[in-house]
Amino acid sequence: MDILISGASVAGPSLALWLQRYGHRVTVVEKAPALRGGGYAVDFRGRVHLQTLARMGLREALEARATHMGDIAIVDATGRQVAAIPSAVFSGDLEVLRGDLAEVLYAATRERVRYRFGDQITAIAQDAGGVEVTFAGGAPQRFDLVVGADGVHSGVRRLVFGDDAAHKKPLGVYAGIFTMPGTFGLRRSGIMYSEPGRAVSVMSPHGGDQIVSLTFAEPGLEFDHRDVAQQRRIIAERFTGAGWRTPELLEAMAHAEDFWFDSTTQIHLERWSAGRVVLLGDAGYAGGPGGNGTGLAVVGAHVLAGELDRARGDHEAAFGHYERLMRPYVAAGQKQAGGGTDFLVPSTWKKIAQRNRFFKTVRYVPPVRGLFKYLATRTATAFELPEYRLPALV
Ligand SMILES: Cc1cc2nc3c(=O)[nH]c(=O)nc-3n(C[C@H](O)[C@H](O)[C@H](O)COP(=O)(O)OP(=O)(O)OC[C@H]3O[C@@H](n4cnc5c(N)ncnc54)[C@H](O)[C@@H]3O)c2cc1C
Repeated sequence: MDILISGASVAGPSLALWLQRYGHRVTVVEKAPALRGGGYAVDFRGRVHLQTLARMGLREALEARATHMGDIAIVDATGRQVAAIPSAVFSGDLEVLRGDLAEVLYAATRERVRYRFGDQITAIAQDAGGVEVTFAGGAPQRFDLVVGADGVHSGVRRLVFGDDAAHKKPLGVYAGIFTMPGTFGLRRSGIMYSEPGRAVSVMSPHGGDQIVSLTFAEPGLEFDHRDVAQQRRIIAERFTGAGWRTPELLEAMAHAEDFWFDSTTQIHLERWSAGRVVLLGDAGYAGGPGGNGTGLAVVGAHVLAGELDRARGDHEAAFGHYERLMRPYVAAGQKQAGGGTDFLVPSTWKKIAQRNRFFKTVRYVPPVRGLFKYLATRTATAFELPEYRLPALV
């Protein structure tokens, strides 16, 4: 089949890898002019994620780029460590920078998949035999299937599934993330500083550059997800007057080339497919922080491609099976993520102190460390990977 995927971050290239392996002709259209770097770390947890990466043939390439992050130090305004968050909470079993993950996926697919950067779909019209796609640049083209793997602000979802606002459930937390020179001297370590309703994290997995995340809680903030200057202003305003070393981070933000900003939003849809169009990853079922979003994107890609192969071209049957298999897994991640925001940005000094006390107290209790590991992987492992035909890697 001729299959068009919108979005070249994690879900899109993961699916492209599988589809070309099953013999389909794949085009990936990405709005950004080139592969997007940047972002914080994303992680894989437990056997389901790791087995999927192994089946994709990427486990080693990703292990080579693993952050191997240690515990995250929580500091007060003077920089003194008051507690530490065990690495199992944030880093899972295999953690990589999101930009590194995107690069590895792109490198594994670029020779056999057609990437079309700096373009996007502007219209989708389906009939019984295929999908007519109009692009912002270039002539219209016909495909057998179209996959929306274009994230929380998916263009495919907007064009095909209607009322976009109704599908979005904002969790009231916003984050600005960027890379800057490593002025804090961190290596495989991170620091977190909190004030009521806002938090600053700095981490450096490999020494050298450090990655900064500025997170704040606010109900119902409106912003234009295309207007980066406005997003930088929002962060600068929300962090005005913040203590610790925040001013120097804000200064660096102004020059950061890979600045990324978004609200943490969940996507809830009644159906993930409509005819020959299907959604994958955040576009269809974003979970928000702690919702296993990256793991769901790679597992979802494997299941979608595997079901298409099993159904021998019957896309309706394949989309139906994909959704039935993935729904409960997604729901578990989304439920877990709903509770994560209070922990990331507690709303009062009292809640910050409670969180810090909790991590300080449990730090040296070995069974509790095991419990963290269990809690951190519980939803990520709540899935039985089907045994699909696995054509040899070429
Ligand atoms: C630059 C960047 C930084 C990120 N940083 C973090 C982070 O620090 N922490 C975190 O938890 N998650 C982060 N994420 C989100 C994280 O990658 C996803 O939650 C998860 O990995 C699922 O991936 P996805 O491929 O479904 O969606 P995404 O990673 O959101 O990818 C969607 C892709 O589609 C592209 N796109 C959007 N609209 C269109 C369109 N209309 N046409 C064509 N292409 C389009 C985007 O440019 C992007 O490349 C980041 C995403 C990006 C793009």
